[in-house]
Amino acid sequence: MSIRVRFAPSPTGFMHVGNAIIAIRNWMFARSQDGIFMLRLDDTDDERSEDKYEQGIYDDLKWLGLDWDEFAKQSDRNDRYDLAIDSLKKSGRLYPCYETAEELDMKRKIQLGQAKAPVYDRSALNLTKGDMEKLEASGRKPHWRFKLNDVAVKWCDLGRGDVCFEPGHLSDPVLIREDGRPLYTISSVVDDGELGISHVIRGEDHIANTAVQVELFMALGFDVPVFAHLPLLVGADGKGLSKRLGSLSLQDIRKSGVEPLALVAYLSHMGASIAADGTQSLSDMAAKFDIGAFGRASPRYDPSELNMLNIKVLHNKSFTEIKPQLEAIGLTGVTEEFWAAMHGNVEKLEDAKYWWQVCNGDIEIIVNNDDVEFLKIAAELLPCGDYDENTYGAWIYAVKQKTGRKGKGLFLPLRLALSGKNKGPELKYLLPLMGDKLAKSRLNS
Ligand code: GLU
Repeated sequence: MSIRVRFAPSPTGFMHVGNAIIAIRNWMFARSQDGIFMLRLDDTDDERSEDKYEQGIYDDLKWLGLDWDEFAKQSDRNDRYDLAIDSLKKSGRLYPCYETAEELDMKRKIQLGQAKAPVYDRSALNLTKGDMEKLEASGRKPHWRFKLNDVAVKWCDLGRGDVCFEPGHLSDPVLIREDGRPLYTISSVVDDGELGISHVIRGEDHIANTAVQVELFMALGFDVPVFAHLPLLVGADGKGLSKRLGSLSLQDIRKSGVEPLALVAYLSHMGASIAADGTQSLSDMAAKFDIGAFGRASPRYDPSELNMLNIKVLHNKSFTEIKPQLEAIGLTGVTEEFWAAMHGNVEKLEDAKYWWQVCNGDIEIIVNNDDVEFLKIAAELLPCGDYDENTYGAWIYAVKQKTGRKGKGLFLPLRLALSGKNKGPELKYLLPLMGDKLAKSRLNS
């Protein structure tokens, strides 16, 4: 079987972590199986689809490093949907309905009041030709529903195991709107069927869609793809993310300084027994990817875990890799020694700017009154001239001998005065980067 998957976002908003995890898992699955990864834009809703969102999807996928082998856009494929619709009309599986949204809502309320499932009652099937003509003469336009077979729909889901929808639990889905436009339920099936999608990997919010789409695939004569429904992300607090997803856009995450590899590693390992360690490349991760390795529980999206992974990803970057990135944030002239001193200590690349200032410019240092004299002595003991990695050790020894201080009382005031922070890269590396003049002037100020 040739493996063909698709990521099918609607360009009605910017990509967020909830879309990204689906894109990543589809991409990883395709790459792990020598398959095809298709990007399909579900842009049938032209009121809500916008060019800026479409561009955002391209930009975000490229930023993540997820390249696509094939591309399709639903708005280019309307003729294909028309043909499918004609065939369903001919086979009697589509029927016109004339209820307004208010009438449908009323029906649902009555059903719920009677403790019945709010399933469409198919009353439109009882309309005579005359009834329909009258309704149309009064200005009503039909929407069209797909008549489900009254049979159980079953499939073996790669994310959820065996799934079964008993008959009578789902409404006949509307496939064509009053204005004649096809809805996602059918356009997606026509695309998946015609474009040979072998596996549909998507969020578990689509599970009821799948139940009706399985019947649609069959009614249209397509092979039914394999499905994998993935649990939706929740926040670190365990609560649903849907309302917060807007603030978890990839653009914002990117602006906050997260490395794409850290985000991909984080999202691709969520819910798996092995956590991401930040050392693997995209292709390493793809090679080890196993769609069956994820638990059924909703993975918790925790920005602090992502930040920890970001530190590791930055730590693993060589100077050659990082140099252009540092230059892009305005740090030109950065040396390999500087990055070697920094790389285990920066959570976000932007943090390197501060440490660049520590080594080369002005910073606000912290000096407690009780330490002024101590720091003066330390300044006097600091040698002049070029420093190397051993300078610090020898200096600290001398300061300790002279002042009698040790432990925190010895190290912390020096660190605060030299770097303005209570933690960061090791002073033995910072000191040579700072040089004698800067170090002495800070200790004396
Ligand atoms: N456009 C749909 C969505 O973004 C695609 C769902 C699917 O993968 O079929 O939810």
